[in-house]
Amino acid sequence: KIEFRHVHKHHGALHVIQGVSTTVRAGEVVVICGPSGSGKSTLIRLINGLETISEGEVLVDGIAVSLLRGRALQALRSRIGFVFQQFNLYAHLTAEENVSLAPRRIGGLTKAAARQCALALLERVGLSDKTDAFPHQLSGGQQQRVAIARALALDPDIVLFDEPTSALDPEMIGEVLIVMREVARSGITMVVVTHEMGFARQLADRVLFLDEGEILEEASPERFFLAPSHPRARRFLSQIH
Ligand code: ATP
Ligand code: MG
Repeated sequence: KIEFRHVHKHHGALHVIQGVSTTVRAGEVVVICGPSGSGKSTLIRLINGLETISEGEVLVDGIAVSLLRGRALQALRSRIGFVFQQFNLYAHLTAEENVSLAPRRIGGLTKAAARQCALALLERVGLSDKTDAFPHQLSGGQQQRVAIARALALDPDIVLFDEPTSALDPEMIGEVLIVMREVARSGITMVVVTHEMGFARQLADRVLFLDEGEILEEASPERFFLAPSHPRARRFLSQIH
């Protein structure tokens, strides 16, 4: 469970997050959408302490993220997978090595056990035939599926996705969404920044619309897409459809 309590974030003079309060329950899939610069990335990066909080608190299963340092912060991060827009795979490691790195280094698995774990995850994302490929030998969609396998490698409770399909060519978006759908159905808590409204409609339990650092609308996908109550949400939806 993730709780935002009156969260504010400043970047210098910019007031990037302006009093966000919301709760993501265990197992929930929450989609965050909103215009560029509205604070979506900042908001999800606060969850695993990649951004420091200026005011208020983010609690993960009751633990205040801002109070964590060193090992305690590492422990929290090991429970939270993160999938970035730009994949961020290690270029000098194979797909299998990218996925087995954390299980070895953080999970304490032997090389053989970590490899087994990585091979199972790569199979889960449909890449059994690419385990020994390096990132440059993979398409964008394949790289992103490796990144999802890597995010799942420590068996996290939560996975955060920041525009996971935005850097992909249209024909590769589908294969990544299929994997994300499978992850969503597995019961993991997911917070997903995306403009893929098909994904939101089908799989989100809730949609948050962020604008200028504020949640202007928080609704079920049915409600959000059918009849958004805030004019800015209506305008946003009309632009991306
Ligand atoms: P996009 O859809 O373009 O990814 P976003 O909703 O994810 O946008 P953020 O990246 O969270 O938006 O940025 C919110 C605001 O904070 C923007 O005005 C951005 O310029 C500013 N910002 C983000 N990171 C920093 C930083 N490290 N230093 C200064 N300003 C920042
Ligand atoms: Mg962003």
